[in-house]
Amino acid sequence: MTKLNIVLFGPPGAGKGTQSQFLQEKFELIHLSTGDLLRAEIKAESPLGNEAKELMDRGDLVADSIVVAMIRNKIEAHLDAKGFIFDGFPRTKAQAEALDEMLDGKDEPIVAMLSLEVPEGELVSRLLHRGSEGSRTDDKDEAIIRNRIKEYSQKTAPLKDYYSAQGKFKAVEGVGTRAEITARLVKALG
Ligand code: ADP
Repeated sequence: MTKLNIVLFGPPGAGKGTQSQFLQEKFELIHLSTGDLLRAEIKAESPLGNEAKELMDRGDLVADSIVVAMIRNKIEAHLDAKGFIFDGFPRTKAQAEALDEMLDGKDEPIVAMLSLEVPEGELVSRLLHRGSEGSRTDDKDEAIIRNRIKEYSQKTAPLKDYYSAQGKFKAVEGVGTRAEITARLVKALG
């Protein structure tokens, strides 16, 4: 059976984490968030975590080699998965190419890149709200939030063209209720 490998895409604050949970349950997929994996490394105070922390605290991207290796390990650890939801990965063209190489080698390509579209003003207010309630230091400071959005616009948004060229890019309106957005994502999967 073809695996349901999905890239859930969108800027910081677009709702990728929330929506991943629902898609994961509905289709019995493995959810791989590079942000969550990196935060676990920071918590464990591993050398990798210590290296990533400074960059994440500034809102800069972590090195491609680090996140690619983390994803590779997870894919190898779940060879019998029905599919993966990639959340927050890939974020650069080099990461997207590395992911294609990993999956094409197994003949299990990405089937769709679902892109949650949310206006910038809405993103900033969602993230500041999350920062006021939670523990993520990168959500507490508007300058850091703006830097993450800038990193997204410059390095990550161009991946829309990368997946468009493969006929996999699907834009999904990311403003609405949680359930409305889940329904749009499921519909986009066809
Ligand atoms: P958000 O999408 O809200 O910014 P994430 O948890 O996806 O949250 O990412 C938090 C931070 O982790 C990013 O700002 C970046 O520093 C780092 N990070 C996560 N995924 C990647 C990735 N694929 N490549 C490089 N850096 C990453």
